[in-house]
Amino acid sequence: MLNLNFHSSGRHFLQIPGPSPVPDRILRAISMPTINHRGPEFGALGRDVLDKVKKVFKTRNPVIIYPSSGTGAWEAALVNTLSPGDRVLMFETGHFATLWHKMARRLGLEPEFLGLPGYEGWRHGVQADMIKARLKDDHDHQIKAVCVVHNETSTGVTSDIYAVRRAIDAAGHPALLMVDTISGLASADYRHDEWGVDVTISGSQKGLMLPPGISFNAISDKAIATSQTAQLPKSFWAWDEIIESNKNGYWPSTPNTNLLYGLNEALDMLLEEGLEQVFYRHQRWAEGVRTAVEAWGLEIQCLDPAVHSPVLTGVVMPEGVDADKIRKLIEDRFDLSLGAGLGKAKGKMFRIGHLGDCNDLTLIAALGGCEAGLKLSGVELKGSGVTAALDYFAKHPLNRAD
Ligand code: PLP
Repeated sequence: MLNLNFHSSGRHFLQIPGPSPVPDRILRAISMPTINHRGPEFGALGRDVLDKVKKVFKTRNPVIIYPSSGTGAWEAALVNTLSPGDRVLMFETGHFATLWHKMARRLGLEPEFLGLPGYEGWRHGVQADMIKARLKDDHDHQIKAVCVVHNETSTGVTSDIYAVRRAIDAAGHPALLMVDTISGLASADYRHDEWGVDVTISGSQKGLMLPPGISFNAISDKAIATSQTAQLPKSFWAWDEIIESNKNGYWPSTPNTNLLYGLNEALDMLLEEGLEQVFYRHQRWAEGVRTAVEAWGLEIQCLDPAVHSPVLTGVVMPEGVDADKIRKLIEDRFDLSLGAGLGKAKGKMFRIGHLGDCNDLTLIAALGGCEAGLKLSGVELKGSGVTAALDYFAKHPLNRAD
């Protein structure tokens, strides 16, 4: 039988890299009564949310909001812009890039998967020079889109999206650039317009601090123009009817009213704090957590310091140690949820999420749970990560202006 009374006492530590903890302010907004989604109050809310959300994507163009998880928005990006048999160039950064590649194949596209080999390949970001070289070879422009994951949630690597834009331009190639920032948005710096992204895909349950259930496509003029001739079948996901309806703050089908209250509140919170401070806050937490992992004498999954994720940190276990067993012990013993190693990283590492509604002490508690769990499992640690992170946080101001 379903047991909803699963926490014995205190707060559960939800330190997976999304869904992230939902702040009380957002929970309160979501709990307001559901209203008529065709009435005037809803139209005003819709217009407000559709306008404010552009600021987080840093775009002047429309942002489409779907009542779905991020996977739906992946599909929407592909079916709105591509035709059966189109070639798509994707880059294997990790498990989520792999799932998106699989989806492209299932939709009848011809995806090519570039990447560095093996599990070690998942310890780096997108290699823009490989994309440039492949596009230069594509003399007759068979490749219609380049698809990359900004923040690869399975590894903790945040790729340089502007470098990919420059690579496409340097190759003189007209392919669309599509970027999944499902776990990057509102935690890591992201600039849809400035970086020349054609379709940005995101979701609600990470940096936006909402429950799962909303996803996004931010779209360029070029993507909109392409969507007018794209032939993959689509109906629910089609941008045109949604854009038309959104002009007045409505949707063609029933939107998720209460999650939109929550989104409205989340956008206010983020904009009140200021996006630059939000990014700084995440960078600082990430640095603190990496300081802890280094003090333990363990390896971080991401091998390239230039692309360490501000959202999560992958902690690699010593050879022969099963990360999943340790993660389960930590969950059972300390009511602390960590992310599992996925795909090629299964059993090799666990992931600590440090995004959204955290603070220094929730992270210290999470690191405490990890440290205790590692010790209980017999993993030899060089020193105390908790002490190292406390020192780090004490020495670094909470506000970027200080
Ligand atoms: N892409 C990335 C980078 C993700 O982190 C996730 C989910 O965690 C997805 C895609 C899939 O999104 P969803 O699970 O919301 O459908």
